[in-house]
Amino acid sequence: MSLVEQWIRPQIWALSPYHVPDARGMIKLDAMENPYGLPAELVPAWLDCLRAVPLNRYPDPAAQALKGLLRGILGLPEQMGLILGNGSDELIQIIALAVAGPGRAVVAPSPSFVMYRMIASYVDLSYVGVPLLRTDFGLDEVAMMEAIERHRPAVVFLAYPNNPTGNLWSRRSMERIVERAPGLVVVDEAYAPFASDSFLDRTGEYPNLLVMRTLSKMGLAGLRLGYLVGPDPWLHELEKLRLPYNINALTQASAEFALSHQAVFDRQAAQIREDRAALAAALARLPGIRVFPSEANFILFATPTGTADRVFRCLRDQGVLIKNLSAQPGLADSLRVTVGAPAENQAFVCALRHCLASESHGPA
Ligand SMILES: *Cc1c(COP(=O)(O)O)cnc(C)c1O
Repeated sequence: MSLVEQWIRPQIWALSPYHVPDARGMIKLDAMENPYGLPAELVPAWLDCLRAVPLNRYPDPAAQALKGLLRGILGLPEQMGLILGNGSDELIQIIALAVAGPGRAVVAPSPSFVMYRMIASYVDLSYVGVPLLRTDFGLDEVAMMEAIERHRPAVVFLAYPNNPTGNLWSRRSMERIVERAPGLVVVDEAYAPFASDSFLDRTGEYPNLLVMRTLSKMGLAGLRLGYLVGPDPWLHELEKLRLPYNINALTQASAEFALSHQAVFDRQAAQIREDRAALAAALARLPGIRVFPSEANFILFATPTGTADRVFRCLRDQGVLIKNLSAQPGLADSLRVTVGAPAENQAFVCALRHCLASESHGPA
């Protein structure tokens, strides 16, 4: 046994690292990025903000100015807690660290965001995935309740809308889960800018409800900034696990700048929602493609049985990178495409049409 094997914990040994494919030179529609950058006319003012950042100093550990701006935009009442993370991934990790212990469990619907399971395994929490309904990826409320009674989870993660399926779930089912859960329920609203519903204004109504969001999908994925809103007693404890300077000075300055131009991002999100409808309609017109409804900035679709891997590779060979989910439980034949700029969406649909045509002439 090597030294590495001897000391690295078996559950870490068993993990595969999170894989990010090389997208150089490709039309990149795999990671739910906003295709629009900061508008050119705002760049000089943004650079002025960055120039004023003293890089020799540690950032504000409490990120006061940034949190103040966020509170204003979200209309958070004073007694409501707010904590910032280096992406919402870090917040998931902070929550997991805070509740981990022998015999403790995390429950989430399946399929859902892969980091819930991955981070649970980092800290030895047992992870229970409850299959979504096969018909429409709806919540199986009965199965969720059974899992909650049986495993008494420390945390239930509900991605709303869900990644990778794109749908919102029954609001009543969600509420009943929050009411029944013995521990925390984290509603992950990473796709809030594209969705028609939210639980943010319900925080405070339930003692165990936290709502998590991120700036990533709205157009600032490079900054790595997520936030968590909920009752102060929980967030007070989670704060103790936040590394002191987790939000770097350039991120704080850039996010403050961006949030003071919120309207720009609202317009981009509105554009993406329109383009999502156009893309879904174009996909639905292709032979053999089944499109699932989306409240996010991506669309899940199914290709004819047994073709997803080949269609994915064919798209990649034509310079279009999307996400192949067909190996995941419950997602046979499924691919996920991010809504890009109109020209990118068109190039994707065109490439997909070509790939489907070569499929119907027999596999290569
Ligand atoms: C993308 C995504 C996140 C991660 O967001 P970051 O803030 O970039 O870490 C969290 N939850 C869901 C459901 C996501 O799809």
